[in-house]
Amino acid sequence: MDYAYRYGDRRRLYLNATNRCANRCEFCIRYRANEFGAASLWGDGEGEEPDLEKLQDAVSRHGATAEVREFVWCGYGEPTFRLDLITEAAPWLRSFRDDVAIRLNTNGQACLIHRRDVMPELAAAVDAVSVSLNAPTAARYLELCRPDFSAFPRPQEVEARPGLVWDAVLDFLRRAPGHFKQVQASVVGFSLTAAEVEQSRSLAHSLGVERFRVR
Ligand code: SF4
Repeated sequence: MDYAYRYGDRRRLYLNATNRCANRCEFCIRYRANEFGAASLWGDGEGEEPDLEKLQDAVSRHGATAEVREFVWCGYGEPTFRLDLITEAAPWLRSFRDDVAIRLNTNGQACLIHRRDVMPELAAAVDAVSVSLNAPTAARYLELCRPDFSAFPRPQEVEARPGLVWDAVLDFLRRAPGHFKQVQASVVGFSLTAAEVEQSRSLAHSLGVERFRVR
């Protein structure tokens, strides 16, 4: 799979580090296509993930890295499964330009995935986060995002209390403004009613997140 890819703005380079995800969102593009534009984002299996050297090779193959203003962790999986790589790669990514920004597109489950508070580590490696809120309530989240409990540590505990997943997303959003320069919450417009979109917007604002995007 391609570990680095471009899409749209050439000053932005996307990093695809894993196909692992604890959600199976009904709207996820990865269930409809292996490719995204010219990039192949779906690997041969969970084992196909880059180490720092492979990521560096992939980034370097795109050339003209000096023109990149923003690196974005975003691919066919939840990037924070590769917290190790996100933190390890940050100094190298920042070395390209003084003003380069690093963004993380995430489902906000990182602290539940790792069963500890990883926000400080992420904050040291990332400037901005876009968090997929995806729903206005726990029930709708579970319905639309269909968490795979087996992907979390202590899966039986999460399966017995599926609301833990939603709580983890809300907790991430609530604490994110204290850790990152820019925080955005997002929903997928076609999967919600107009009223649910507005409910989700209000929820994000009540958590202290002002930027809200309907994708
Ligand atoms: S959280 Fe993101 S990568 Fe995971 S299934 Fe949902 S849309 Fe796809």
